[in-house]
Amino acid sequence: MKIHEYQAKELFRQYNVPVPQGKAVFSVEEAKEAASGLGGFPVVVKAQIHAGGRGKGGGVKLAASMEEVESFASDILGMTLVTHQTGPEGRLVQKLLVEAGQQIEKELYLSLLVDRATASVVIMASRDGGMNIEDVAANTPERIIKVQVDPLMGIQGYQLRQVGFGLELPAAAMKQFSQLLANLYKFFIANDCSLVEINPLILTFDDQVMALDAKVDFDSNAMYRHKNLMELRDLDEEDPMEVEASKYNLNYINLDGNVGNIVNGAGLAMATMDIIKNAGATPANFMDVGGGASSEQVENAFKIILADEKVKAVLINIFGGILRCDNFAQGVVDAAQKTGINIPVVVRMEGTNVDEGKKILNDANLGLTSAVDLADAAQKIATAVS
Ligand code: GDP
Ligand code: MN
Repeated sequence: MKIHEYQAKELFRQYNVPVPQGKAVFSVEEAKEAASGLGGFPVVVKAQIHAGGRGKGGGVKLAASMEEVESFASDILGMTLVTHQTGPEGRLVQKLLVEAGQQIEKELYLSLLVDRATASVVIMASRDGGMNIEDVAANTPERIIKVQVDPLMGIQGYQLRQVGFGLELPAAAMKQFSQLLANLYKFFIANDCSLVEINPLILTFDDQVMALDAKVDFDSNAMYRHKNLMELRDLDEEDPMEVEASKYNLNYINLDGNVGNIVNGAGLAMATMDIIKNAGATPANFMDVGGGASSEQVENAFKIILADEKVKAVLINIFGGILRCDNFAQGVVDAAQKTGINIPVVVRMEGTNVDEGKKILNDANLGLTSAVDLADAAQKIATAVS
């Protein structure tokens, strides 16, 4: 679960990770009020969306006067901000962070993430922070320091120094940096983060270090034990269809092709997407109704997919194990009767109660195409959208 920069910075403050003074606002008037509360210029006006690369897209501006705060705030609020992380459709900006502008001596990079391969928390840092960190990773990976922290041991003093020295910080900044990193690690563990990224972490001319940007991602599976963090979820930033699907416990991810697919089990969903691709078509989504989906859940899955305008045909690929094919078929019939099917639907179904399932679908006379096996299903769905 992602949160906004302003929310992440508020949490950083609670863990004594230094951040600039600032305030989240929703209108130009509020932006001016917040700016005057900062007691000086420059003031930074920052678009709040769940995506990085805002600076390059025109979503971060340094204002030298109140007039500039006003004009930047009105430009950015309501704009559709396109960055390399939003995709070409961009994101509507509805909130701003108005912050005290900092004098920057050096922009550094610092992040913590869960590394599954080593079952540890990895700290990554680089002297080449700022807006082009992706280029650093691609072209000069040796300039990125990596330190593994054993979660049972916790972060050790020598590791704090290893990162600080690696960043070639001046001696005067070393102690403060060590505290910052130790506090950040505490924050990471206490809140079940999967990623914390500060880019840039800045060094000021008086040798202070401070988080100028803040990106935080929490492990969604751990959110049941962080009710306070759940309140930070911003549904405006999530795909509306994914939000709808999550209400019914459906495992759904919206993609950009035109073949909708309904599958039971994530492994089968991955395989089905491969098969669709292999046949020359492109999946419009990943929809896993789960091992034991009820017919009501299947109905909701079907409704969500049929409501998606880019979907030109639907492939249903079910292997009945715990999920019985007759239950599944009933869900499809119920959904079809409520929403009406006006696009081709190919069904491949095998497993528990498959004959009963096929009979239910046949008797309902919905005009579905049945496939004998996977290859046949792929071929039929590709023909349907070609
Ligand atoms: P991102 O582009 O979405 O990662 O947004 P950031 O918060 O990282 O801001 C982008 C860039 O704006 C930073 O790399 C800085 O160069 C610049 N910037 C942000 N805040 C300040 C500030 O207070 N003072 C100065 N001089 N530059 C800033
Ligand atoms: Mn940044």
